[in-house]
Amino acid sequence: MKKTIQFRCLLGSHSLALATMLFTACSTNPTGSKPAADDAETFMTRAEKRYLAATIKDGRASWVQSNFITNDTESIAADAKENLIATIKELADESRQFNGLQLSPDVARKIKLLKLAVPLPAPSNPAEREELTRIAVNMESEYGKFEYCPEQPATDAAAAKPGQKSGAGEAKKKCLSLGDLETTMAESRDPEELKRAWLGWHKVSPQYRKDYGRFVELANKGANEMGFKDVGAMWRSNYDMEPDQFAAEMERLWLQVKPLYDSLHTYVRARLRQKYGDIVPANGPIPAHLLGNMWSQSWGNVYDIVKPATGAPTYDLTKILVAKKTDAKQMARYGEGFFTSLGFDPLPETFWQRSLFTKPQDRAVVCHASAWDIDNQKDVRLKMCIKINDEDFQTIHHELGHNYYQMAYAPQPPLYQNSANDGFHEAIGDAIALSVTPEYLKQIGLIAAAPPESADIGLLMKLALDKVAFLPFGYLVDQWRWKVFSSEIGPGDYNRAWWELREKYQNISPPTLRSEMDFDAGAKYHVAANVPYARYFLAHILQFQFHRSMCRDAGYKGPLNRCSIYGNKQVGEKLKKMLEIGQSRPWPEALKALTGEEKMDATAIIDYFAPLKTWLDEQNKAQPGEDGGSK
Ligand SMILES: [Zn+2]
Repeated sequence: MKKTIQFRCLLGSHSLALATMLFTACSTNPTGSKPAADDAETFMTRAEKRYLAATIKDGRASWVQSNFITNDTESIAADAKENLIATIKELADESRQFNGLQLSPDVARKIKLLKLAVPLPAPSNPAEREELTRIAVNMESEYGKFEYCPEQPATDAAAAKPGQKSGAGEAKKKCLSLGDLETTMAESRDPEELKRAWLGWHKVSPQYRKDYGRFVELANKGANEMGFKDVGAMWRSNYDMEPDQFAAEMERLWLQVKPLYDSLHTYVRARLRQKYGDIVPANGPIPAHLLGNMWSQSWGNVYDIVKPATGAPTYDLTKILVAKKTDAKQMARYGEGFFTSLGFDPLPETFWQRSLFTKPQDRAVVCHASAWDIDNQKDVRLKMCIKINDEDFQTIHHELGHNYYQMAYAPQPPLYQNSANDGFHEAIGDAIALSVTPEYLKQIGLIAAAPPESADIGLLMKLALDKVAFLPFGYLVDQWRWKVFSSEIGPGDYNRAWWELREKYQNISPPTLRSEMDFDAGAKYHVAANVPYARYFLAHILQFQFHRSMCRDAGYKGPLNRCSIYGNKQVGEKLKKMLEIGQSRPWPEALKALTGEEKMDATAIIDYFAPLKTWLDEQNKAQPGEDGGSK
């Protein structure tokens, strides 16, 4: 679901990514003389040079590894990643010599960005540092390699699926990877089978539950040494405001969208109850295994159960693309055409020469779609095993959003070559994808006529199952971690607190009784691999805010789900202005450059889904005695 992008992705999926928390503690000023503000300027020039060089090296190694997966390329990529993290850590430590000095705002900002560039701060004590690194690497790798091996042979249907290994020597014992279990979660409509898949995957994390407590302790020590109250406070410092203020912003945004989520939840619960009977309660939380996704974070896979009965017939873009004999490069050309219509330059020739567009027959590659920025200048690339279908058509528009962002901020100094805050990069790609409307498809000649408005509820429902259903989960993951890092949630309460938040925000319940023997938060990749999560929530809010304001600027007056900014050079000009800022200024300034607004505002997502909300509330009224709302 999340398309990763390569830029400065410091903790990618590589299990050795963390192995170089082992940096030397700061001893920076060999002469012993007191540093001056001027020295800080000199330091920063040198620091950015080293940072840039390490970034490019990492990018190249990682590109080759993703395009030719072998033991050797993995090892080379791990080395480059280690080197990058070590470099950042070393520079951040060196910069401490300027603590307390009156620095230029520019240098002060860059020092702050350096300090926040690695999400796992390590303590300076070598033994503790080593222990932290070992735990971090181990948790991520346990998560990555876990397979659920049921005692009973898997059902025939599951056993027939490819991609599973049989345990050596054990008759018929089938082991299931996360991918296998996710397929079951998406496709099965047998509640017992769904429960088994859910419980099976959640066996991944108890093994590192105890370690997680120690991990928190050690990482907090590192954060303290860097001047932060704890790791959660450090992460929240990444948003150009006080950590507590950022937490309040998240809560404010959540409360804006909660009524929309509640309406969707109530409706989906009623439809699931029709389908599954009493295992879905008439009121209260939905059992987590029935929503088509291992974490109940996006519900698109149950569209067939909840879709409106009166959905008007609509077009089939996949069929149209196939009938037109569209190939992978042509798919990407459509995406490029969207951006040139806004006044952006065509993609550089190297993009077409160096990108991966189709799945090679002769070697293993990472197929997960991603947008790359190899030299932090013009060498942008797409890596994607493009399929000729509707979904990939959207995805290409999304990925090129990343590439155009990268090219727009390329002239900035290295530490500013990033999105305004970490929610912006994903939000831009998604905002562009929101403009892939029937009207746009008509304009580029793919469909003859846009479907009637009566088709909108179905289209909006499909989108809401992904984008609206995600919001509470996007919020609560870090809510839980902030409280764990601040000790508000102690190691004896990890699971109880996790499920309290799951019920409070998502209004879902575990399929069976859970206990403190379990560690269900740790069954999410971003917890096991220590990747901050608030960015995904922000991206889901921001993309609609971008879309609404670009549509306003285009003079568009109709329903937002029918608006496309395609072809509007004036809007493109404004968008470019925001992208060019990169991370050089506090993000509210970038937001203002595009939207005229300085605050994140979730009323845009409310506006976008307004027709669906009305429809949902009518349906929910027709279900007497069943409440809306989560408690
Ligand atoms: Zn993306």
